[in-house]
Order: sequence, then structure tokens, then C-alpha cells
Amino acid sequence: MTPLSILKKYWGFDSFRPLQEQIIQSVLEGNDTLGLMPTGGGKSLTFQVPAMLLDGVTIVVTPLISLMKDQVDNLRKRRIKAVFFHSGMSGEDRRKAHELIYNAGAKLIYTSPERLRNPRFLQELRMLRISLIVVDEAHCISQWGYDFRPAYLQIKELRKIAVNAPVLALTATATHKVSEDICQQLNMMRPRIFRMSFSRENLNYIVRKSETKITEVFHILSRTQGSSIVYVRSRKRTREISEYLCSMGISATFFHAGLDYEVKERRQNEWQSGAVRVIVATNAFGMGIDKPDVRVVIHYDTPPSLEEYYQEAGRAGRDGLKSYVVLLSAKSDAANLRRKVSENFPDREKIRKIYERVCNFLKISVGEGYDCLFPFDLDNFCNIFGYQRRQCLAALHLLSQSGYLEFLEETEHRSRIMVVMQREELYDLSSLSLQAEKLLKCMLRLYTGLFTDYVYISETILSAELNLPEQYIYELLLELSRAKVIKYIPRSKTPYIYLPTSREEPRYIVIPKNVYEERQKILSERVEAMIKYSSATNNCREDHILHYFGEKRDGTCGRCDICRDKRKKAKNTRLEKEMLITRIIEFIKERPNGVDFRIISHNLNSSDDMVAEILSFLTAEGYLDLIDGAYKLAQD
Ligand code: ADP
Ligand code: MG
Repeated sequence: MTPLSILKKYWGFDSFRPLQEQIIQSVLEGNDTLGLMPTGGGKSLTFQVPAMLLDGVTIVVTPLISLMKDQVDNLRKRRIKAVFFHSGMSGEDRRKAHELIYNAGAKLIYTSPERLRNPRFLQELRMLRISLIVVDEAHCISQWGYDFRPAYLQIKELRKIAVNAPVLALTATATHKVSEDICQQLNMMRPRIFRMSFSRENLNYIVRKSETKITEVFHILSRTQGSSIVYVRSRKRTREISEYLCSMGISATFFHAGLDYEVKERRQNEWQSGAVRVIVATNAFGMGIDKPDVRVVIHYDTPPSLEEYYQEAGRAGRDGLKSYVVLLSAKSDAANLRRKVSENFPDREKIRKIYERVCNFLKISVGEGYDCLFPFDLDNFCNIFGYQRRQCLAALHLLSQSGYLEFLEETEHRSRIMVVMQREELYDLSSLSLQAEKLLKCMLRLYTGLFTDYVYISETILSAELNLPEQYIYELLLELSRAKVIKYIPRSKTPYIYLPTSREEPRYIVIPKNVYEERQKILSERVEAMIKYSSATNNCREDHILHYFGEKRDGTCGRCDICRDKRKKAKNTRLEKEMLITRIIEFIKERPNGVDFRIISHNLNSSDDMVAEILSFLTAEGYLDLIDGAYKLAQD
């Protein structure tokens, strides 16, 4: 099999995109490889295709649990055996995944970097024949990257286990400093580096100064067409803006991480299918979403880095057609951004206090908790101790960067059921209520595989199907579960705290300089680069971005607001000059005895410089004569 035939067989695509083939080739030749491609460039295939060609298994380290699930689901649909591991999984799920590896010969194993801290897990990986190590979102391994994850350093341990396997690192955002760091941190041997240009020729970058952003959003959307995303950095405002747009007759909905799974799914689908034009969302929206015809991406708030801005704005125009990305900027934005950076760093005493309180709250005593997972209700915690959510999150983040705990916020489990009663027994359900029986039949009709495994269900769908309130469905599910007909795991959105080490005494809690001071510096440098982008008045916007990512090119984009302004200005000056030439010639014509420069300039009410320039041009071209300091029309 060749890479191309694999591509055709499993994905049904006809050809590779730029750089995909080169990266695949390099990996198959056994080279350590770094691939830099913008989001949507097609990085996943660069390891999924080799995984199918190589004998052993491919380990993929990737930071986001939700993306991991998406990818594995996607692969399974293509009949490719893949599994995932992360610290928030139940023992049961882990056991199943193992089974798939050993008995069914999974080709790809996705894992969170945190999972690699677990010696048992590493031990298990040691038993496998690892043919390729993939590090997705590889900028996370670098302190200079915008999303440093200390657990990524753990990948070195993985390399020790599979000495002969090449490593493929992939990222969409890497400055030169970061790409060097990635190679070094991963101990890459003579890495082959493939870099795709970050220039997007169909994107028009625009910055709009506005103190009434909401009306500006409406104006932009009413003057454009096609699918749009409005990014906002507050959950509350996603709703407000979307309601405002709807009231103004623009079809819109909103999305943020706090919504129920079903709601998110539904809204995403409505937007994806084009039934709803605009989605107003926090940055929780967009990852793993691949809509080619997004025409407008508006940023209501300025993101804290160009990396994030480029990634989010880059969701526009995947189909290569002309699209607009607009950043709205108000006077107070810069100060707000700077303040947010400092809020990310509560002082160390406070961090220790929060650690202590979290452990007490979870009833973990000193010396205990190693490798344990605890459901953690952050809001409740904040309420009890009077913390602000943001401050608490910042402290948890620093504690996690320092290796004391991990806060897994995004674990979200949809409801699952499995039928435990034997098929024959199902005919005799006399003990059940009529409604419960109806529900059971409905589930058997809607879902397959219920007898062999847990299957995701949706209370919302069932409620619509049976025309019963959701709360009632929930109660019926509990009834079925009490009657031992099914096993029911209700959906939960509780975040978890995972302890990679047992609880420490507060005085031994060290938040190192590289986690605190150095990161603070990096974050503020990044914010400043973003502020510079939004406040620039003279440099091409795309140039600014490319330059930031270490890319050089000749010329400017010609499409951004600044390039357009410059062109417009140049055109205006040209028009003004042409008019002035006519007026000057008229003026001199009426004064055959000649007139002085000052008189011309004064009477024509124009700038001295421009008049002087035109006079010397007209003289040089032979239209005028300059005699004794007076201009006359030339006698031809
Ligand atoms: P990235 O990880 O670089 O952001 P993905 O790997 O998620 O991008 O790919 C983005 C989209 O492009 C996916 O929907 C994928 O199916 C599609 N894609 C990737 N390579 C090809 C190809 N050679 N032909 C057609 N579609 C492709
Ligand atoms: Mg990707």
C-alpha cells in the first residue's frame, strides 16, 4: 500500500494537500519531523496515514480530551481501530481500551500528556511495539508557546520507551523560538522541518475602532453575507449579542462551554448546516469544527495573543473564497488586556492557601491522594470560601503547571446506558411502569449495541421522541436502573481534580520562577504584540502576523484595512494633484506677465510643498518658464 492508496481507501480523498505527502514521506523514512501548518491545513492525516502503513502502533499525545474523543470517533467511523486514554477516565473505560489494544490490534492510541505521568501506563506501553510517536499541538511543550503544559515534558519518557520510533511534532502556531524549543525538548535527531506559509490570500484583515461595538457588529453583518462567527470573551455576552442580532433580523444563536451537550450539538449543527447564519461564541467554539464557507469572523473582544487571534480568525474562508476577519477595538481594550495578565498571577501565599483549601474540601489528608481523581465543584468551592472564579482558576492553573494537581474542567460525560437484562427476560417486564416500558422500547429502537456495551443516549432526544418532560425521562431511567434492566450513568459536567502526587504540606509547595515570573513576562509580551496589531496605523496587518510567526516575505497583502487605506490615500493625492495642475495653469494663463511662487500658493489655497512640486514638474516638462522668479506659460 502507498500513502495515496491508504488515503483513498480509508478517507476517500483523491489527493494530498500541500506538505502532507512530504511530511508522511519523512516520517515513513524514520526521520524526526516537525510540521508547521495553519489550523485546517490537514495535520491529522500526516500521522493517521503513516499509522496505517507502519507495523506497530502509533501513540498520539494531544492535550484536549474533547478533541481526542472526536478524532477517535472519526477514525472508528472509517473502520480504523483507535483508542484513547486520559486521567479523567473510569477504570471500566480504561479496561475496555486495553482490550481493544491487545485483542483487536488498535493502530492508534491517543493519550493526554498527563496520563504519561502514570508509571503503570508507561509500563503498559512498554509492552507494545511503538512505531511512531506523535505530538499534536506541540507548542504546548515550549514555555514560549502560548499554552505551555508541563506534562508535555513527560513525552521524553515516552521516547525512552520507544527509542527507535521517530517523533512527529505538529503545531499551527510556532514562532522560530518555539520551533527550536520543540525540537530540543523532544530530543529530536536532525529534525526535518516542514513549514507552510501562514499567509491566507483570501482573508481580509480589518481592525475597526469602535466604542459601540454591538452596533458595529450589526453593521458589519448587515453589509456582508454568509456564515459568520462572532467571538466574545464572556459567556453572558454571547447570549446578549445573539439576542440583539435576532431582534435586528439577523439569524443568530449562541454557544459556550457552559451549555448542555445536546444544546451545543444542536446549535453547532444548525449553524453548520446554514440554518442559522451567525453563531456568537466564546473561544470554546470552533475546535474540531470544519466549516468551509465561513465568510466573516468578528472578534468583539481582543484575544490575549496573536496566536489565538490567528487561529480563531483563520476559521474564515477555508474554501479559499474571499472572507473578512474583523477585530473590534475600543479605547479601554489595551488596559483591560494588561490587567487580565496580572490577574492571572495571584500571589504565592494565596495560591498555597487555595491548594490547602481545595485539599480540605476534597477531604484529602497530607500524604494522600496520589494518582486519584476527585469530582470538584468549582463554583461551590468559590461560594464557600468567597473566592472569585477567575482568581481561583488562575491559582489552580499555576498549581497544575507546578505539578501539584490537575484541574480537568472539560471532562463532560454524556449519559450512557447498557441493557443488563438478558434479551429473553425483556419480554416479561410486568414489574415496570407502562411509561418505563415505553421508554425502554424506544431506546431499543433508537440505539444499537445496547446489549454489549455502554451507549451514549440523549435525554433530550428521548423526551422529544416520547413527548414527555426531560426530568420525567430521567426518573424513568432511574426506575429502569433500579429494576436492574439497564445500567444508567447519568450525564455529568462536574470537573475533576487529579493529583499526580500526594498532598503536600503548604510550606513545601513551590511555584517555580519559570512557572510564575517567566510566564508572566511571556504572557505580557504576547499581549503587547496583540495590542500592537490592533493599534497599528501604518503596517500591513498580515505582515504583522507573518512577521510575528517568523515568516518573511516581500510586499504587503494589499487587502487589509491599512493596505486599502494607503491605496485610497495615494489615489486621493493623485486626484488632488491633477486638479491642482489644471488650476495652476489657469491661474498663470490669466497673468501673462508672470507670477511669483508665493502668490500662486497663497491664491490657490494649497500646501506650499505640493505647489512647489507641481511647479517644478511643469517647468521641467516645458509647460512653464521660470524667468526672474516669475512663472509664465511657455511659448511653444
Ligand atoms: P489541522 O489539524 O491541521 O487543523 P485537520 O487534520 O483537522 O487540520 O484537517 C482539517 C480538515 O481537512 C479535515 O476535515 C480533513 O478531513 C480535511 N482534509 C485534510 N487533508 C485532506 C485532503 N488531502 N483532502 C481532502 N480533505 C482533507
Ligand atoms: Mg489538528
